[in-house]
Amino acid sequence: MNSPNIHFHRHDLPPGISFGPMVAIDTETMGLDPRRDRLCLVQLSAGDGTAHLVQIIPVALGGKGADCPNLKALLTDPAVTKLFHFARFDIAALYNGLGVVTAPVICTKIASKLVRTYTDRHGLKDLCRDLAGIEISKQQQTSDWGAPDLTPEQLNYAASDVLYLHLIWEKLSALLLRESRMNLATECYKFLPARGQLDLLGYEEPDIFSHSSA
Ligand code: MN
Repeated sequence: MNSPNIHFHRHDLPPGISFGPMVAIDTETMGLDPRRDRLCLVQLSAGDGTAHLVQIIPVALGGKGADCPNLKALLTDPAVTKLFHFARFDIAALYNGLGVVTAPVICTKIASKLVRTYTDRHGLKDLCRDLAGIEISKQQQTSDWGAPDLTPEQLNYAASDVLYLHLIWEKLSALLLRESRMNLATECYKFLPARGQLDLLGYEEPDIFSHSSA
């Protein structure tokens, strides 16, 4: 996977692309608040070394906004599992940007927190290094994803956020089975679309599950 195959699309996925039963997805946005910060890019990979990047351009900037039927059909397809790292954020960003609830989902960050209890390092960079021996750069993370023309560095970075998720999930699912926590992980994943909705409603802090009545 030294020179990943990157396909760039504006507005929507082209028709007829299949990602198989599990598609790795990540999003890039204008910032870390899914209510405030618009969705700019959606990256997808079947785990085969190829990444498809879909740029979402607002209607006001000459784009098609949330008019992306092929992408939305994939996000809501009950037969295709969507694999994320920190799905909670991406689900909220995709709902805010496109108006669809992404499901069913799997999250490598939750899997890591459930089984890699010997460490507090659960970032994607940590999982790539520790589980797959792959070094990824996070240098472009804070760049301007709303720019009309993304740089080659941004596109490479964006692709690297989905290219290794299948490999990482393979390692984490083996650990979840070994530690008898797969069922718990599955129940957490079922809740994630609701967690994203709670975040968009402003319930992220204080969390409704905490004892605090504030
Ligand atoms: Mn990313």
